[in-house]
Order: sequence, then C-alpha cells, then structure tokens
Amino acid sequence: MPLLLYNTRTRSKEPFAPLFPDEVGLYTCGPTVYNYAHLGNLRTFLFEDVLKRVLLYNGFRVRHVMNITDVGHLTGDRDLGEDKIEAGSRREGKSAWEIAAFYTRAFREDMARLNILEPTVWCRATENIPEQIALIRVLEDKGFTYRTSDGIYFDTARFPEYGRLSSQNLEALREGARVERNPEKRNPTDFALWKFSPPGVKRQMEWDSPWGRGFPGWHIECSAMSLKYLGERLDIHCGGIDHIDIHHTNEIAQSEAATGKPFFRFWMHGAFLNIQGGKKMAKSEENFLTLENALVRKGIPPLAFRFAAFLSHYRKPMEYSEASMEAARGGLEHLHNQVRDLGPGAPGAAADASFREKFLQEVNDDLNMPRAMAVVQELLKSDLPPAVKRATVLDFDRVLGLDLDRLDRPEELPEDVRRLVAARKAAREAKDWAEADRLRAAIQKLGYTVKDTREGMKLLKS
Ligand code: AMP
Ligand code: ZN
Repeated sequence: MPLLLYNTRTRSKEPFAPLFPDEVGLYTCGPTVYNYAHLGNLRTFLFEDVLKRVLLYNGFRVRHVMNITDVGHLTGDRDLGEDKIEAGSRREGKSAWEIAAFYTRAFREDMARLNILEPTVWCRATENIPEQIALIRVLEDKGFTYRTSDGIYFDTARFPEYGRLSSQNLEALREGARVERNPEKRNPTDFALWKFSPPGVKRQMEWDSPWGRGFPGWHIECSAMSLKYLGERLDIHCGGIDHIDIHHTNEIAQSEAATGKPFFRFWMHGAFLNIQGGKKMAKSEENFLTLENALVRKGIPPLAFRFAAFLSHYRKPMEYSEASMEAARGGLEHLHNQVRDLGPGAPGAAADASFREKFLQEVNDDLNMPRAMAVVQELLKSDLPPAVKRATVLDFDRVLGLDLDRLDRPEELPEDVRRLVAARKAAREAKDWAEADRLRAAIQKLGYTVKDTREGMKLLKS
C-alpha cells in the first residue's frame, strides 16, 4: 500500500519512496533551548514522531537527525534582536551554556513522557561550528555572500529559485522581510550566515572565523548538520508551519546554492496548536503552557496530550482548552480499560490482517490519525476473539505509542496494591473466601476494582 505524504514543496500528496532503499533520511528541526517546550512545540514533535513511526510501520529503516539550537536564534526573525539563549541567561542569572544544558534535559524528559522516539543522532549547533563555517566558505567562493558591518549575508537575488517553498510570492516575502529593516541588506529577504560579535561586547558564545569573531546565523546550522549527518539521504525535512517562509526557505537557498543539488525531496509541516480562539501558542506570549503546568500538575498523564493530538489531523489547527485535556484523559483511560478487558492474550495470536490493512490505509493517507483512531474503536467493537483484538491493537500501538499494554504490567501497580493482590491470590488458592473478600475491599479503597474472570483476575482503575 503506498504511503502518501503531503509535500509542502509541491503542495500535493505524493507517494513516498526513499532516495536509497536501505534507509530513509529524516531531519526534524529541533527546539531552541532557552525555555521549556510549550504544548505547541510538542504538538509539532508529536506529528514528527507519528511520521517516523509510520515509516517504521511500513518496514522502512529510518535515520533520524534532530538538532538542538543552542546559539544564533535571534528574538527577531530577520537577523535582528538578541540571541535567545543569551537572553535566557540574563533572565535566569545562569551562563548561556547552563541555560542550553538545562532546557535540553527538560526537553528530553518531555519527549520521554510523551513516548516520542529518540532520534538516531542528536546534534548541537555549538558542536558543529567548523562545519557551518566550511559551508559559508563554499557559498563565499561561489559568490553568494556579501559583508555588512554586522555580518556575512546570503544574497537571495543570486539564487533565482528563492522562495519556491512558500505559498507566498516573492514580493509578499520581501514585504514581510521589510518589517524588521536592516538598511545594509541588498535585498529584504537576504539573511545572515555569520554574525559578528557586537564591537566592545564579549558574548558568552562566540568563535573565530575567517570573517571575524562571532556566531552562526540560525539557518546555517540545519543545512550544515543535515548534510553532515544524512549525507545524500535527504528524504524528509520537517518543522512547524512557521518555518516555511523563512527558516526552511533559507535552508533550501543556501544548501542548494552550495551543493548545486536538490536539498530534501519532501518538506512536511505541522499546523499550530492554538489557544483561546485561534491565537498561536508561543514562548513569547503569556499563553505559555507546558506539559508540566498544563497536565502533570493537574494529575493528567502526559500521554493524554499525545492522545489529544491524534484527534486533529496534523495539517489542521488544534485548539487547546482545559476541557479538551480532561476529555483526552478520559478517552485514554477508557482505551486502556478496553484493551485490558481483552484479557492477557493468547500465545501465538496474530494481528488481524484486514484490520491491519484498514489501519495502514489511514496512517498511510498522510498520517490520518483521527481516522486511524476510529479504526481502533471499530476493531475493539468487532466480533473478533479478544486475543486477536489484543494482538491487533498492540500492533497498532507501534504507531500510536500510547502504552496500550501498560496496565498489564504488574510493575505499574502501586506497591501496596500489588501486595494486596498477591495476598488475595493466595487466599483464593487456599479457598479462604472471607479473606479474599476482605482483601478485595481493601484494594477497592486504594482505587482499584477487582474482577474475577475466566482468564483470571483483572484489575480496573475505579
Ligand atoms: P522552537 O523551539 O521555537 O525552535 O520551535 C520548535 C518547533 O515548534 C518548531 O518546529 C516550530 O515550528 C514549532 N512550533 C512553534 N510554535 C508552535 C505552535 N503554537 N504550534 C505548533 N508548533 C509550533
Ligand atoms: Zn531547522
């Protein structure tokens, strides 16, 4: 069954096939680590995780590279403003390096809590400075750069294909780029490849370069690192839709100008998570909700956010509200109970081929998770034997990543519940029904309902 993916570059759904049959190269623009990731950022990383899992489910091997932006991302989109990491350093009274290390760790914890698979390669902008300088030198040798008082810039007029990724025309892109004016730029869309440390200022993060002491522009890191870590395997490059007009447009321009070859075949973008009537969630806004403050502190499991993300297609906006998180918590719990009610499964039970086909058809239709979730419900309500349902739904969980086998793992139960369950089992074996009933009541008090079934004892969270 073909895997159809929407390619921003061609504005159409296209059948996906890797450039090299052995492995798919996937590059996902990673976080800028000056603060916690908010739920909007995490929505994008969840869409990318589903993409990766669907590639794996289709039998592809995936080489996944994710960068950590720990330098050079300025508060203004167009090479103006302050470095976000240095701003974070001032805000918190820690060094820029400490800020980056702290929020990198926090990000990786969020990923783990959301069952987002780790990339094959993690790479940091600050660990790849020579590679970025080398790429800028190639651009310089080919005549694509010029110097201003504050840095080395890419001359977008020298690259006739500039702006092709965007749905806006070049004029509109230029208009947008005029908002933050830099009079020394030859064209409004030109962007910094290397920025000089301001005269008289000692930045915390700065390096020597052939052009002077300074730091890389934000876009060059993703070109340098994807070429370094993926080589020719430039299959799919992803990010949020806000990356289309500037960051990805500039990555394509500088990479193709340098290599003379196409830079990534598929470009995929996730729509925003919005809050309060269509307002984008942003780190700079007050509507900054994290996994910790919007879910964990309210007792909502992080995976409820993963579940919630599956209810909108990744190319449609997702609306955040407290009520939608509560609803997702209930939905996830219900799904866990449905799966647990299927019993322990039978050895050798295989996934049902026709449901597998249905599920594959939906996820292969540009990652249609709302419809894939409907197939899950159809399966659970079908007449198939419980063991087959169970094998099938656990097979789907390779894509869903919702820990659907979780409640069967005894170590998930609190210690005191586990002890009571073991004691009750012993009492039943000894036919001490009064004691078994007493223990059932004790377990109930701790929030678990005991059900005795033909397949053995089952616990439901009450
Ligand atoms: P950043 O850490 O700002 O570099 O962003 C990390 C990722 O989150 C990028 O792919 C952005 O495009 C994406 N992003 C930023 N805001 C939102 C939002 N409100 N909804 C969905 N994705 C977002
Ligand atoms: Zn990037």
